[in-house]
Amino acid sequence: MTVKIKSFSELLFQKEAAEHLSRSLNQKSFPSCYLFTGTESCGKVAAAELFAGILQCLEPKTDVEGNMSMCGICDSCRRMQRNSHPDVEKIFSPDREIRVAKARFIRDAAMIAPILSRYKIFILDPAQNLNQEASNALLKILEEAPSYVIFILTAYDKTSVLPTVASRAEIVQFNSPSYQEIRELLQNIYKLSSNSAADICSLGEGRLGRSLACAEEDFSIDKVDGISRAHAEYLLALEQFFIFASDELQELRNLDLIAETLRRLFDRPNNLLEPARKKFAFSLFVANMLPLSFAPLFADEFMAIAQSGQFSMNKALKSLMDEAAKSYPSALLKEIKEDIEFRIDRFGIGEIKRLAHVLAGFYSDSIIYSASEDEDLLLNKNFKEDIIKMPQYESFVLSEFKLEATENCLLMLERNVQPVLALENLITQIGGPAV
Ligand SMILES: [Zn+2]
Repeated sequence: MTVKIKSFSELLFQKEAAEHLSRSLNQKSFPSCYLFTGTESCGKVAAAELFAGILQCLEPKTDVEGNMSMCGICDSCRRMQRNSHPDVEKIFSPDREIRVAKARFIRDAAMIAPILSRYKIFILDPAQNLNQEASNALLKILEEAPSYVIFILTAYDKTSVLPTVASRAEIVQFNSPSYQEIRELLQNIYKLSSNSAADICSLGEGRLGRSLACAEEDFSIDKVDGISRAHAEYLLALEQFFIFASDELQELRNLDLIAETLRRLFDRPNNLLEPARKKFAFSLFVANMLPLSFAPLFADEFMAIAQSGQFSMNKALKSLMDEAAKSYPSALLKEIKEDIEFRIDRFGIGEIKRLAHVLAGFYSDSIIYSASEDEDLLLNKNFKEDIIKMPQYESFVLSEFKLEATENCLLMLERNVQPVLALENLITQIGGPAV
């Protein structure tokens, strides 16, 4: 998820990257490809959108400290803010391989001169999801690209893309703020107590963008009484989310809005799910003995809700897709349809992944605290009393085993193991009778 910003002064914790990009803008010399590297949700996409916005702006501004910004009022800026700039193409594919068909689409689009602005800009996030064939096709496009084309790729680091792609790109390195820095920032911006800031940072998984989004949505997590309540609340939140999502989709009248709406619904933390997921993960973390029947029962209930939710979302979209079939070219329609179906189909898997990530956060906190006894290093600082106590109940080895089980679950999902099995297996391993 990205937070839209208009000036480099708003790009948090990224002074060097901001200076680097401002220098490029001042010198008016641009390579045909940038590679923005850094951890997830640290500001790469926000910076890419801002950089593209300033490049296209008719009257960009510079403040006394040298920070450049978009004017915010020209036609180009207004279109950037509405995500409808005809010369800025964004390819966001956080969970899905980017295939060669997409690269060909980029090639064809790159050959068409910009309509409104000076440049034709492609933002591709994250580039590590390009498969081999698509990477090679992209290389060819880079070689043949007209001078008005600028690519901005994002990646975890330069080794996560093909060396031939990395070597052709100008690399802009982004920093990863520490948990402590994120907490202080939340306290300053939102005037939060240190406890609430810790709460929100942990809810945002210690990532800057997610934490800011959580703060915007005014979250709080209360501790949970027990596993049965936490699990009931989580399943209920999941069900409510699907009802909410289907309603939102039903409202849409324009095919172009669908992908954007889906991304907002699925990639953003949302009011219902995020705290409920966190509470459930916490209750799993502290419960070291679950009834044997719990894992399969929970996994079945979870999948039943996910499937009925997917069904109602698909139903909500059907009439719109039928309508769109009359006016959109069939190749484009096919591409959009596949993308939508993929996102909806993968929602349950994405949710299991997020649950495993949250759990992994608790186990790694427990391990980190055993080793360092430093509270500031904890992600879930707001649960610190329990995390500090954990080593009394569980050995270091057992916590490590459970962390491995969560990582194994993520691996199983990558390998397309049945999600219900991955979930059941995870809960059995971490909550089953002591190993
Ligand atoms: Zn402007």
